[in-house]
Amino acid sequence: MPPFPRGVGALSQRVGAIPEALSIWMNQIVYDLRARGTDLTVLSLGEAFFQIPWFGLDSVDADRANHYSSSRGLPELRAQIAAYYAREYGSVIDPDRELLITAGSKMAIYLTLLATLDRDDEVVIHEPAWLSYPEQVRLADAVPCLVPYDVDVAELPSYFGPRTRMVILNNPNNPAGRMYDADELRALHRACRERDVELLVDEAYSDFVLDAPFVSLGAVAPDRDGATVVNSLSKNLGVSGWRIGYVVARAELIDACLKLNQHLITCAPTVLQLYLARHFEALTAATLPQARAVVEKRARIARAMERLGLSHLGGSSTFYFFVSTGDYPGSGLDLAATLLLDDGIAVVPGSAYGASTERFVRISIGTEPEERIVAALERLRSRLDQRLPDPVPAAERLRRAGFTPFERARSTVTAAGR
Ligand code: PMP
Repeated sequence: MPPFPRGVGALSQRVGAIPEALSIWMNQIVYDLRARGTDLTVLSLGEAFFQIPWFGLDSVDADRANHYSSSRGLPELRAQIAAYYAREYGSVIDPDRELLITAGSKMAIYLTLLATLDRDDEVVIHEPAWLSYPEQVRLADAVPCLVPYDVDVAELPSYFGPRTRMVILNNPNNPAGRMYDADELRALHRACRERDVELLVDEAYSDFVLDAPFVSLGAVAPDRDGATVVNSLSKNLGVSGWRIGYVVARAELIDACLKLNQHLITCAPTVLQLYLARHFEALTAATLPQARAVVEKRARIARAMERLGLSHLGGSSTFYFFVSTGDYPGSGLDLAATLLLDDGIAVVPGSAYGASTERFVRISIGTEPEERIVAALERLRSRLDQRLPDPVPAAERLRRAGFTPFERARSTVTAAGR
């Protein structure tokens, strides 16, 4: 890769090597189109909208709320989160030594990577992979090794090389909705331990499950030996804008994350932590049934997809589907641009989730009513049936419509070799 030119105003190699977040770029266009008055069916947002009780910020102590607080996270919120993990997932956490709260699980993952990886270490990531994993790995000067979606999780260890330091799994998975069970997690953790590889499981959608109980890595590896969990209140409590996420790991790793958190964040917003700690029980009591209801809605939408002959990767959790574009002649990005500009339907192109997933689009059923989702799927079906290549590529179409094209990075995704 040729180096960036240096000089006044030059940007770093590091930032040049990563693309924008494709899903966030797509949703920015959605906000802009809406601001122009366009009616859109939004299947691109990475969240589910809940009815959330509001207790008012008057319910917290203003003298504390206005100031910095513990870099580990407010003790009373750590205690609530630990109690939640014990009650819901049977995973016992020491809230004083094994838990750190930070500004969203995005930051929780990044702190863990920075605390674990050295330059050129490799991180094995199972596709379809949430789009920030590889880019955060690159930002930590390490190398993401993406394993194609059709490889079974049991095969991941065969991708380990001498520099493999970590595996990242998302359970349940965004964008497929697939859940990894206790046997799969146990076998993978054992294989990781044998090779001194850390296992990081992102459990951001842990309450969006229905058919089988969710298994936390913490329940499978209670000694936390090489086993780190990240989670967030963004999805489970429906408060993505609050930016509260957390890491659960052995005490030494938490202490390392704490140092980084002190320099990068100081603390997650005190006022929000106070509020969440105060109302945690009431909020989870209100949102947990709604999370389950979204997964039931997903099951109904799955039946509609079957009727329409739309195929998607296996999985019954979360509020996402990873839908195959079948014989559509263009890329996933071309299809997404056509759906957006011609049909008023926003989806995320599959290329956001790996090198093997170009011929998919992600749809989220979390924010639109069922009838509108089904109508959009019917439209998607007829687009796929049309088989007409769009004469103008997506980037050009979007540019003509007045949007900045998606900025690709100079480096490409690294596919793992066995
Ligand atoms: N992990 C996964 C799998 C996600 O989908 C998201 C958000 N889309 C996050 C982590 C980040 O969530 P937050 O930073 O809001 O906690």
